[in-house]
Amino acid sequence: MNSNKKVTIIIFTMVSLLTVVIVALVALGSRQSGYDSAKKRAYLTADIVKKSLTSHMINGNMDQRDVFLNSIGQLNEVNDLWIIRAKSVSEQFGKSHLANEVPRDDIDKEVLRNGKEKIIIDESLTNATLRITIPYTASSLDKPNCISCHNAQEGEVLGAISVTFDIQEDRISSIAVLLNIVGIISVFLIFILIYISRKIKPYTSSFDSITEVLKQVHEGNYSVRAKDGVLKEDKEASTWLNELIEKLETVLTGIEKNLTTFVHNRSSNINNDKLLSAQEIIEDISEIYNYKKTIETDLTKDDIYYRLIQVLKDKLKIENFFIFETDLIKDERKVIYSTKEVVPCCNISKNIKEKCRAERTNTIVASENFPEICRLAICPNNSNHICIPFLINEQKNVVIHIICNNEECLKHTKYQIGIIKKYLEETKPILESKLLMDVLRERNLVDGLTGLYNRKYLDEFIDKKMPYELKEGTTYAVMFLDIDYFKMINDTYGHDAGDAILQKLSKTMKDAISENEFIIRFGGEEFLIIMKNPTQESALALANKINQDFSKLIFTFNNESFSKTVSIGYAFFPSDTDQIWKCIKFADLSLYEAKETGRNKVVKFTKELLKNGDKERY
Ligand code: GH3
Ligand code: MG
Ligand code: MG
Repeated sequence: MNSNKKVTIIIFTMVSLLTVVIVALVALGSRQSGYDSAKKRAYLTADIVKKSLTSHMINGNMDQRDVFLNSIGQLNEVNDLWIIRAKSVSEQFGKSHLANEVPRDDIDKEVLRNGKEKIIIDESLTNATLRITIPYTASSLDKPNCISCHNAQEGEVLGAISVTFDIQEDRISSIAVLLNIVGIISVFLIFILIYISRKIKPYTSSFDSITEVLKQVHEGNYSVRAKDGVLKEDKEASTWLNELIEKLETVLTGIEKNLTTFVHNRSSNINNDKLLSAQEIIEDISEIYNYKKTIETDLTKDDIYYRLIQVLKDKLKIENFFIFETDLIKDERKVIYSTKEVVPCCNISKNIKEKCRAERTNTIVASENFPEICRLAICPNNSNHICIPFLINEQKNVVIHIICNNEECLKHTKYQIGIIKKYLEETKPILESKLLMDVLRERNLVDGLTGLYNRKYLDEFIDKKMPYELKEGTTYAVMFLDIDYFKMINDTYGHDAGDAILQKLSKTMKDAISENEFIIRFGGEEFLIIMKNPTQESALALANKINQDFSKLIFTFNNESFSKTVSIGYAFFPSDTDQIWKCIKFADLSLYEAKETGRNKVVKFTKELLKNGDKERY
């Protein structure tokens, strides 16, 4: 219902109520005045009758009174009229010859008894009568003095007169007056309503138009405009409103057009309200900016991955996911992050370039789009996978492997894909520079001739990584290796031959170790092997294997073929000593023992060596 109708109805209701009240008051008033005039007529009649009866008495023709009373009774509007004599009057003057001068009903009796007039109004739909019974009381003040004739006390009731008036006519005339009033007010009311309706129409129609426009804007439709107003006030209001919506539309369209490209619209169908979309876009931009600023100052690649995991988990609410990092040179993949107790749909670790569809095509691969889209991905319990690849450089590729167990998760993930890609894009250059720095750092930590770690790496390992590993309960074996009579090679076949033998030994060691061990070129032809969580057997076995494998190699220089041997000493940390550098010394001491006792052998550290060897040195 529009405002004009509403306002008209309200005014109509109020004026109608007012009319009803006025009519009711007028009706009550006219009813009362009808009764009052009937009462006046009754008093007049009663007085005339009293005076006439007195003159009848004085003139001695009291027995003719019925003629007079009958003629009064025939007056217009008088339905009935009778008089009643009190007992005392009958006793003084003898019984009336008129049989009807006795009380006719209880009203008559009551008035005779208590001397108080009584009025009864009898109304029905078609009739209205007023019955009044007025007492005649003895008074010496009356003229003539009635006590002079009547043997009565002052104030004694001598009789009464009962008159019944027809007041229907009064009532009809009151109703006629009322109808006239109602008619006049109604006509007046109609004119008022038409007038008010016309006067307020411009305001109400502007108000309706503004309300409708605000409703549309609230629902996200910024293309609507309010109608131009008619009067000065509503013209201004609609112009201001339209200008405001215009500005909003321009700004929001601008935000949507220009900024969406920064954050990738998540889904234009989910929210049609440009204002809410703008808010979302600005929030996303601000969060991405914060993220970027934070990872820019992060120290390591691991820190950056940690932030990315936080964003995926806490901000984007991705529940089950993995982050795979592929070394494109080695074509191997390692798991950077995995959600606890979740099984990935894909667990390949080699030949990634060929096997992983997401990496090969560099596009998002979602199992929901096509059954078995990636033949290698087998999801347990009918779950789905979404793989988002992002190439960092020609050496590294990263894949976010998301697993969804229900429709809701799929819907949510699809909604977040745009923003995930944006975070990945922001991560890429920073991760790339960190990877580059890692390469440089690694180069600084690697020996050029053998490709093995250098002593710097050992220092870093001891300072940074080892304390954490020790806390986790990791134990180590430290193995010291030295080529026997190596100087002779240089002297006999030249430095290049020596270098070649160093490289051969390095390869022999690399082939012998597992992922739990690493090798350091400690000095010229001295090497250290650090074993994690060794046993007595595994340490001895590794030392023996390297010793034997190397001794089997045949070297040919200057048409001369020969083989070489290594001596190895090893000790355990922290069981032999609780200081790592001391443990390295113990391994060195064991190597010295091997050299001393014939070379080409493996010697495990024992306390006795301290006694035999240079105890003071350690
Ligand atoms: P021992 O059995 O007692 O170990 O006898 P050795 O001849 O091996 O004696 P030592 O360990 O003292 O000899 C080390 C030699 O290694 C001395 C040095 O000329 C040589 N050397 C050190 N670094 C390099 C290198 O990078 N290349 C070459 N070719 N030789 C090196
Ligand atoms: Mg040597
Ligand atoms: Mg040496």
